[in-house]
Amino acid sequence: MKKCCKDFLDAGEDSFTYQHVSLDKFPLIPWLHDDKRISFMKRCKESKNMDILYREGLLQYLRVNIGGGGCGVELLKIVAEKGHKEAKYVYGMIMLCSENEELRKHGLKHMRFLRESMCVIRCRKNVEKILQYVWKNNKKLVQNQINLCKSKNTCKSWRPKQGRWSLLDDDDDDNNDVNMCEYCRWDHELVSFSKFFHVH
Ligand SMILES: [Zn+2]
Repeated sequence: MKKCCKDFLDAGEDSFTYQHVSLDKFPLIPWLHDDKRISFMKRCKESKNMDILYREGLLQYLRVNIGGGGCGVELLKIVAEKGHKEAKYVYGMIMLCSENEELRKHGLKHMRFLRESMCVIRCRKNVEKILQYVWKNNKKLVQNQINLCKSKNTCKSWRPKQGRWSLLDDDDDDNNDVNMCEYCRWDHELVSFSKFFHVH
């Protein structure tokens, strides 16, 4: 159930509605003070709307990286584990940047879920979109320089889904071809993530 939040500004008093409404139309950081929006957001938060918790986790995470605010990554983890796809993407990619192999495995679990649901690229685009006007200075997020694929020279590698005219990397998910190397697929994703998330 994904309905535009606008439909709910004046209607829908039950908490199920607030719990499931999509917040896509709202920017991550609002430009204007708007009492109606604030009260709507408050109601969503009280109803444990996953979208709002994801946004809060994202903002907290970015703030801690510029020297303030809470941790964020814990909240992202909670929301990811509840099944929020964009939270899975952000949390999964942050974990894949880690030097800790166990955390990387944790990240893989979430990314595999998205791949099986055929929505890795859609999630990437949504995260990129919500962060487009947000200042990112991820000084603390340093990417593990060791590739996930440990046998780049011999493995069958991975390539984006082949379109009719060119390689499509932004329209659809990959083929999920079992003959391609899964680790190379995530190494490829880390390149995209590092660019828009400003990972060092
Ligand atoms: Zn590989």
